[in-house]
Amino acid sequence: MPAESFSTRLPYNTPGKFYVTEDCLDCDLCSETAPTLFTRNADEGTSYLFKQPATAEEHEQAIESLEGCPCEAIHNDGDQHDWTMPPTARPSWRSDNSPKPTCSHCSPPKRPWWKFWA
Ligand code: SF4
Repeated sequence: MPAESFSTRLPYNTPGKFYVTEDCLDCDLCSETAPTLFTRNADEGTSYLFKQPATAEEHEQAIESLEGCPCEAIHNDGDQHDWTMPPTARPSWRSDNSPKPTCSHCSPPKRPWWKFWA
């Protein structure tokens, strides 16, 4: 559902092919994978695209970030859409005081820490 995901994009993404949606739980994995493309918005508790990939290497890093995002919050169909249309939807946990969902990447390990690497 590309149009649906585009409607939930974060408004501060740089327009282009790739974008991050409101599903981002700010695990910071994409910024680690592609630091020249993604950064954090600490006030909002999200990461976003501050630069679209311009080289083959950056494009590979963007794809790697998309595939590694534990929240499936990164999409690559933004060049098919009208960036002048404002985002229309926010998940309920962002617009009311619902607890933030847990992230499989960030949530505490289910094993004791001394067995984490076992
Ligand atoms: S990897 Fe996904 S969930 Fe984690 S900060 Fe990036 S966009 Fe957000």
